[in-house]
Amino acid sequence: MSAIKKITKPSHLIDMNDIIREGNPTLRAVAQDVSFPLSDENILLGEKMLQFLKNSQDPDIAEKMGLRGGVGLAAPQLDISKRIIAVLVPNPEDKEGNPPKEAYALEEVMYNPRIIAHSVQDAALADGEGCLSVDRTVEGYVIRHSRVTVEYINKAGEKKKIKLKGYNAIVVQHEIDHINGIMFYDRINEKNPFEVKEGLLLIE
Ligand SMILES: [Zn+2]
Repeated sequence: MSAIKKITKPSHLIDMNDIIREGNPTLRAVAQDVSFPLSDENILLGEKMLQFLKNSQDPDIAEKMGLRGGVGLAAPQLDISKRIIAVLVPNPEDKEGNPPKEAYALEEVMYNPRIIAHSVQDAALADGEGCLSVDRTVEGYVIRHSRVTVEYINKAGEKKKIKLKGYNAIVVQHEIDHINGIMFYDRINEKNPFEVKEGLLLIE
């Protein structure tokens, strides 16, 4: 059975067994555009991807299902070479440990997302990046754009244009890289992984 048929079965919940790991050629392929109107299968796939991220961020469910926590997932990571990404970035608790007013800073399934504009300034996460498809730590600053404008189609088929900065911008760039066959460590300076060029914004 194809990966998409298996994953979009009503009873199926995405788990770590569905996620392919580095070395699999699908992660290095440029994924195919999705066509519109969206098929039910592609809508369902997006919903399953977002549900996986929610499950992965719930400590009880994640432990039961053996999930690594994630804030983003791209269809190629499921061995489905389509330009679909899901992002789920939680807002932090306040200083007293109360839940945030809005649970998520970013919660979206994006079809055919693309970066249509970006800042001159670069940014990187101070702690580096990880990936559900990479079962090892790769240290170093992953050099990305500090701010991006992203255009995509949502699950209702509406064209959206959003401006992102900070952590949200990093997450979306990481996922868009996946649909272009790029891994996060491709963007680390091989000779000097912690090089800080002038103007680089380090995000804590
Ligand atoms: Zn990744």
